[in-house]
Amino acid sequence: LVEITKVRKSFGATEVLKGVSLTVEPGGVAVIVGPSGSGKSTLLRTINHLEKVDGGFISIDGNLVGYEVRGNRLHELRGKEILKQRTEIGMVFQNFNLFPHLTALENVSEAPVVAQGRSKDEARRRGLELLDRVGLKDRADAYPRQLSGGQQQRVAIARALALDPKILLFDEPTSALDPELVNEVLDVIRELAKSGTTLIIVTHEMGFARDVADTVVFMDQGQIVEQGSPEHIFTNPQEPRTRSFFSKVL
Ligand code: ATP
Ligand code: MG
Repeated sequence: LVEITKVRKSFGATEVLKGVSLTVEPGGVAVIVGPSGSGKSTLLRTINHLEKVDGGFISIDGNLVGYEVRGNRLHELRGKEILKQRTEIGMVFQNFNLFPHLTALENVSEAPVVAQGRSKDEARRRGLELLDRVGLKDRADAYPRQLSGGQQQRVAIARALALDPKILLFDEPTSALDPELVNEVLDVIRELAKSGTTLIIVTHEMGFARDVADTVVFMDQGQIVEQGSPEHIFTNPQEPRTRSFFSKVL
């Protein structure tokens, strides 16, 4: 269970998140849409503590992100402690961010060894399983530069899954791809959604959002303007700002 409660975040004098609250049930899929600059990426980044919130809080299965209760006091996590907590929160970025000097399989199996102390053999076996799941078992020994953008992004998804995260965050996972490669990545994400992985996805792919979302969240100017089922948001939005946005993008 992901609970985002009244989260605020400013950069300098600009308030980018103005009290955002959102709950995502276990196995739920929330898709966040909204205009450029509305705070979608910033919100995702607060969930895995790449950005520290200025107000409000975020908890995952009851554990506060960025903090730990010690005795009856709240201890702020830092350095390695944050990295450890972050292994529970997978993130896939627009630009894949694979390690260029590692093969697909090494990209997928490195973190379980380094961050979770798994044996190399176990990480390798599991890495091959995950590459198989994203349709890339036969490219295990390829380097990122030898893979298409769609293949690289599928490796990035396998890498995020390798740490068995409680939740997976996607920030525009197909925006950097040539149009003909978009669907191979969306299909993998659809599969994850069906299999009960908890997902929060920022995307401009509205057809996909309608397919896969339990909840569609429309953000504008640092606030959630409206959220609801795809049916509600796409066919019967109540707020003028939501209507005006969809009249431009649909
Ligand atoms: P897009 O659809 O273009 O990706 P977004 O909804 O993801 O937009 P954010 O990237 O979250 O928007 O940015 C929200 C606002 O915060 C923007 O005005 C942006 O310029 C500002 N911003 C984001 N990160 C920083 C930063 N590190 N320092 C200063 N300002 C920032
Ligand atoms: Mg963004």
